[in-house]
Amino acid sequence: MKKLSKTEAQKQISDFFSDIKNKTPKQVKKIKKLAMKNSIQLKDLRKKFCKKCLTPYDKPKIRIKSNIKSVTCSKCDYISKWKVN
Ligand SMILES: [Zn+2]
Repeated sequence: MKKLSKTEAQKQISDFFSDIKNKTPKQVKKIKKLAMKNSIQLKDLRKKFCKKCLTPYDKPKIRIKSNIKSVTCSKCDYISKWKVN
């Protein structure tokens, strides 16, 4: 595999996430690896897929309670929680 520059990797990652709904968990895994290799932080992009099964969220169940947002994965039922401000 050709080594990408950090800028190229960043572009590939943002392109990937602009079309996240059409991606597979396998592709998500690959892009995570790419980010890690280039020490790019995904930050909010990590909220676009389930951290357990890596399935991109598509109309997930979202609940917000006392500043905690819970998102339930429709595939594996894993609940991710984030603080909201
Ligand atoms: Zn899941």
